[in-house]
Amino acid sequence: MTPPVHQSIEAMKQARQAMTGRVAFVPTMGALHEGHLSLVRKAKELADTVVMSIYVNPSQFAPHEDLDKYPRDLQGDIDKAVSAGVDEFFAPNNDMMYPEGFGCWVEPDWPMMRLLEGASRPRFFRGVATIVLKLFNIVQPNVAIFGLKDYQQFLVIERMTRELHLDIEIIGAPLIREADGLAMSSRNAYLTSEQRKHALLLNQILKETETALRQHPEQHPQRLCETMRERISQIPEGELDYFELVDPKELTPLETTQPTMLAVLAARVGQTRLIDNQLIELNH
Ligand code: AMP
Repeated sequence: MTPPVHQSIEAMKQARQAMTGRVAFVPTMGALHEGHLSLVRKAKELADTVVMSIYVNPSQFAPHEDLDKYPRDLQGDIDKAVSAGVDEFFAPNNDMMYPEGFGCWVEPDWPMMRLLEGASRPRFFRGVATIVLKLFNIVQPNVAIFGLKDYQQFLVIERMTRELHLDIEIIGAPLIREADGLAMSSRNAYLTSEQRKHALLLNQILKETETALRQHPEQHPQRLCETMRERISQIPEGELDYFELVDPKELTPLETTQPTMLAVLAARVGQTRLIDNQLIELNH
């Protein structure tokens, strides 16, 4: 059976009115992989109906980024998502989401917006927060699932939902990796097989960071960061964007170790920008 794929805002809103019970929402940009499908499975546990949006949101891409070449395969995505449990899809287009003259942006402005992804991609979270709020208003879910692969994005959505008084439960779902440890990402498709091997080092560096902190919990986090930044810079075709050990709530760089820390990185391998992170709990 082909599931409903709503391609207009009106159709999606009408379909929502007809849904009974709890509705879970999984927003995506398509090019689905197991990471996305894990969110769907989580959604299925939490609600009666699962809605997925598939929309490559132009406002979260900078002009030099990969908006035009971002992989798109709507039918392939629908097939995968249905087998994981999606009941209905919302697949709008740019003219609907950003009609001529659009100008009402959601502009998150917490200190963390000047850190990590916020520092490297200055307009990114404005684009994300705006589209997610718009999608929330159209789909009106009871619960929405986001991957902790995009850790900072999860914090932004959680805080936005709280500060704007939305009645939506925000759930963070674990980062899903390939068997060899590479964080799953739609952008992995850009990597050559050589580059993919190099990219594996990113996860290894996160693991080494965790091991180093467990072995010497008293060490200075910034010194460890320096070592790991150096390691990333030495990856063939690699270019460091950031590597930080931060507080998992505020994302501020740590000056001393603490029981729970987040190691978080962004780096380019060839032309492809990759992100990864690892929560480190010293008492576990
Ligand atoms: P995207 O299509 O990249 O915008 O991602 C849509 C959702 O899937 C976001 O909530 C991401 O955090 C989540 N996601 C992407 N990759 C992964 C992954 N490897 N593990 C878990 N969640 C992921």
